[in-house]
Amino acid sequence: MNSTIHDFLETLFEGAYVVDSDRKIIYWNKASEQITGYKKEEVVGSYCYDNILNHVDENGRHLCSDGCPLQHSIKSGDQANANVYLHHKKGHRVPIQVKTYPLYNENGTIDSCIEVFTDISSQSALYKENRALKTALYLDELTQVNNRKFIMYQLEQFISQTRLFHFNFYVLFIDIDHFKNVNDTYGHLAGDEVLKMVAKTLQMNVRESDYVGRYGGEEFVVLIKNVDNDEILSICEKLRMLVQSSSTFFDDQLIKVTISIGGSLFRKVDSLDSIIERADKNMYEAKQTGRNKFIIK
Ligand code: GH3
Ligand code: MG
Ligand code: MG
Repeated sequence: MNSTIHDFLETLFEGAYVVDSDRKIIYWNKASEQITGYKKEEVVGSYCYDNILNHVDENGRHLCSDGCPLQHSIKSGDQANANVYLHHKKGHRVPIQVKTYPLYNENGTIDSCIEVFTDISSQSALYKENRALKTALYLDELTQVNNRKFIMYQLEQFISQTRLFHFNFYVLFIDIDHFKNVNDTYGHLAGDEVLKMVAKTLQMNVRESDYVGRYGGEEFVVLIKNVDNDEILSICEKLRMLVQSSSTFFDDQLIKVTISIGGSLFRKVDSLDSIIERADKNMYEAKQTGRNKFIIK
């Protein structure tokens, strides 16, 4: 290796090492020492399949004997990528992203191979943190469906999308019937279980492209995309029937509730407030005229 390349590899934050065609490690840079805990003196001269690093993939497969990216590059002349876990000198596993490149000598044959690897543990920590933050922002803690903030955001998205693309959607406003009785009869914790049960029944029985959110208390908003009038009626009937036939056990008591649904098709002239207001009004009418039913108009 010429000294310019050597100096360059020493400045990298990525680990880099070179093996000869027998996979004997002939070079090991500074970052490799930091990421793996192994000093150059401990590694150079040994073979990569001596199981110092002992790469495993996500399924626990040992790659030294089967699936070594270096071996692949040496044999095929191709570059290889892999996400693997290396064995740190202290014993723990470090997630790394690996890239291998075959190196050719002046005769045009492959006589060595370089592996460049990046410690991605901070990336996965950031990813997890990001996901946890998103969940906290968008999900209702009790019921684990979307919270009011998110369902309203999604409604705004639907409204702007209908202006650009041709699709329609219905807004359903759903309220549990006589929910106060549940709390009064079985207690607030039982009420919480009923809320979870209703939320789950709604969530599990709409399509992927539809959205369920808890609007507040015992009220839910559901957005249903691309259906005609007959379809929305059968969806409402299905949700009504499924909630009616759901139940939850609390303190050995079987608790059941029903819902009233008001819904309306989004119209071109609607705003976020006007469509919610109309659906809510229809829900109220469903309450006034008997509960455990739906009104769509
Ligand atoms: P209606 O059929 O007219 O809707 O009657 P209702 O009893 O469902 O209506 P009301 O609005 O009087 O009662 C809603 C109740 O929901 C009152 C409130 O204490 C309860 N509630 C709101 N949020 C929660 C919650 O997070 N957990 C529990 N257990 N109860 C809640
Ligand atoms: Mg209510
Ligand atoms: Mg209610």
